[in-house]
Amino acid sequence: MRNNNEKLFEEAKYYIPGGVNSPVRAFRSVGALPVFIRKAKGAHLFGEDGRMYIDYISSWGPMILGHSCDVVNKAVEQHLHDGISYGLPCRAEVDLAREIVEAYPGIDEVRMVNSGTEATMSAIRVARGCTKRDKIIKFEGCYHGHSDGLLVSSGSGALTFGVPTSPGVPADIVKNTLVARYNDLEHVKQIMEANKGQIACVIVEPVCGNMGVVRPRAGFLQGLRELCTKEGALLIFDEVITGFRVSYHGAAGLFGVVPDMACFGKIIGGGFPVGAYGGRRDIMECVSPNGPVYQAGTLSGNPLAMRAGLAMLDYLKNNPAVYDVIEEKAAYLENGMQKVLDELKLPFTLVREHSLMTLFFCQRTPYSYNDVKEADTKLYGKYFRGMLARGVMLAPSQFEAMFVSCALTKNDMDVTLEAFREVMEELAS
Ligand SMILES: *Cc1c(COP(=O)(O)O)cnc(C)c1O
Repeated sequence: MRNNNEKLFEEAKYYIPGGVNSPVRAFRSVGALPVFIRKAKGAHLFGEDGRMYIDYISSWGPMILGHSCDVVNKAVEQHLHDGISYGLPCRAEVDLAREIVEAYPGIDEVRMVNSGTEATMSAIRVARGCTKRDKIIKFEGCYHGHSDGLLVSSGSGALTFGVPTSPGVPADIVKNTLVARYNDLEHVKQIMEANKGQIACVIVEPVCGNMGVVRPRAGFLQGLRELCTKEGALLIFDEVITGFRVSYHGAAGLFGVVPDMACFGKIIGGGFPVGAYGGRRDIMECVSPNGPVYQAGTLSGNPLAMRAGLAMLDYLKNNPAVYDVIEEKAAYLENGMQKVLDELKLPFTLVREHSLMTLFFCQRTPYSYNDVKEADTKLYGKYFRGMLARGVMLAPSQFEAMFVSCALTKNDMDVTLEAFREVMEELAS
C-alpha cells in the first residue's frame, strides 16, 4: 500500500515539473522521495506520510523562531482583515524599512522585493547603473538566486568570465560575470587588475551557506572591502541567509566589515515571500523614481508580509538573548556530533557559524568550492536517509546548511544525537 505521501507525489509529478516548486525539495541528490508537509509547529514537521520530523531545514532560514510561532501568527491574524494587498504604499513598509536600516551597518535606504533572487538581481542592476560599469565579480559556490546573470560557474583553467550553469542562460548574458575563488583575495585582485575601471561590484555571501557552510578566512571580508574601495567597485553582501541570523546586525555586524549594499530575504519576511536590498543613500538615490535605475513590483511591500517580517524583527531586536540561546543549542548539537565522530574515529568535518552547520564528508575544513567538491555526496545521501528514517529532517544535499532554530528542545536534540550515533555506527561498519 502506498501511503498518502507517495500518492501525492505521483499526482504532483503530473502537474508540476518534478513534483516540486524548487528542485532541492525533490530529494534527488540524496536518493530519497520528497516528504510533503501537512503542517508544522515549533521544531516539528508533520508529513503526509503520517510521520513527525525534527526539522533542521527551517524553511531554509526564515523559521529561526520555529514554525507557526505566536509572534508572527498574532501579527498576521491581527492584520488579516485589513486587506491583503493595496498596490499603494502603507505604514508597515516604512516600519520594516526603518527596522532594517537601524539594524544593519552602513545602510540608509532599502527597497522591498518578493524574494532573495529579486534582491540580488536588483542590487546588481543598481550597482551597475550607479557606477556606470558592466562587469561584476561573484564567487564560485556562492548562490545569489536564479537570475540569468548569476547562474554561472568559473570557466576552465585561467578563464575568469563565467560559463552558464543552466541551459537557457545565453553566454552573452553572463560574459560580464567574472567568477573568483572564495577566500582567495589574490584571485580577486588579479581579476580587478585585468579589468581596471570596469568592475561595478563584488557580490559575496559573507558566510557561505550554499555550498554547505564555508566560513570566510580571517581578513577575507576586510580584504574585499579594501580592494573594492581602491577599485571604486561596490561591495555587496548577500545576507539573505545570514541577515538577522548570525547576529541581529548580520555578518557585517559580526565581522565588523561594512559593505556598500546588502541583500536580505528569508528571516525578514517571517516566512512570507519577502526580499530587500539596501545601500548608502547616494547609491540608493539611483533607484527609480529618484534616479534612472528601474525596479518595481506589484506585490512588493505587501502589507501582510511586512507585518509578519516586522513582528519577527521586533522580537529578535527586543529579545537579544535569543541569539545566545540558539548559539548554545547549535553548540550542543555540534559538540554531541563531534563526540560521536571522535569515538568512532570518523574523519568527517563539521563546520559551524552560529546556527548554520554542515557535516562535510571530507577530511579537511573546506574554504572554497574546490574544497567542498572533495566531499563524498554518496555518503551524505546515506547519512541523510538514515537520519530521515529516524525522524530527523536534514538538508537534502551535502551542499546546504543545517539551520538550528530556537524552537528545538533538549529532547529534540538528544533524539537527534542518538539517531546520529546510530547512523554513524552504520557508516563506520
Ligand atoms: C536563498 C538565497 C537567495 C535566493 O533567495 P530566494 O528567496 O530563494 O529567491 C539568494 N542568496 C542567498 C545567499 C540565499 O541563500
